Amino acid sequence: MNVALLGPPGSGKGTQAVRLSRKLGIVHISTGEFLRTAVRDQSPLGIKAEEFMKKGQLVPDDVMIGIVKERISRGDCSAGFLLDGFPRTIPQARMLDDSAAGQGPDKASERASLDLVISLELAEETCVRRLADRRTCPKDGLSFNPVTNPPAKSGKCDRCGTDLILREDDKPETVRERLKIYNEITQPLVDYYQTTHRLAHVDSSPSPDVVFKNLVELVQSEIPL
Ligand code: AMP
Repeated sequence: MNVALLGPPGSGKGTQAVRLSRKLGIVHISTGEFLRTAVRDQSPLGIKAEEFMKKGQLVPDDVMIGIVKERISRGDCSAGFLLDGFPRTIPQARMLDDSAAGQGPDKASERASLDLVISLELAEETCVRRLADRRTCPKDGLSFNPVTNPPAKSGKCDRCGTDLILREDDKPETVRERLKIYNEITQPLVDYYQTTHRLAHVDSSPSPDVVFKNLVELVQSEIPL
């Protein structure tokens, strides 16, 4: 089963993607996390991507498409994957559709078709507030929120104990740019999928546990497990 999770920054996409992929037994593919690892390693990709990410801008499509094509062609994706943060543009969505339509004899082509697209919905002012409060583990990428998802020990990552930080691109001025880009470039994908795929909307304003429960029920009703 292949699922894509859309949603504005701060909608809880990453947190829900971790839980949902585990529940469904499919691979979680977070393009943002992939890029942050590359930035931490200062690989050639990371150095290039950092320029865009720190300004809240999107990394170019050709780079992202190459990364995702390679990732979904690996063996562990044969039972399915959950895309978190991809696609974010119409060309990225077209790559998945064109591949699924068989325009290439590679593994990515066999696997690219999406069974379900889920759009997490959250009011913009709530996104801004959640991101200002969000603290992230710089080592393994887990995110926490003091109200909706607090760490067991204040300021420390639940998994590895590392000090939590405010992500560079969660600073208010960068958040505004990310939301603007989401509204202008990524939101149109919802219309794109409305006509071509099974698209479901999920309200992301309740607590993470409630949103997760709703997501599981949705997937189970849409795709019999
Ligand atoms: P995220 O963790 O999904 O919010 O992604 C963090 C940042 O990584 C974004 O603000 C972009 O700069 C970059 N990024 C992640 N996924 C993509 C994508 N599919 N296309 C372009 N840029 C991306």
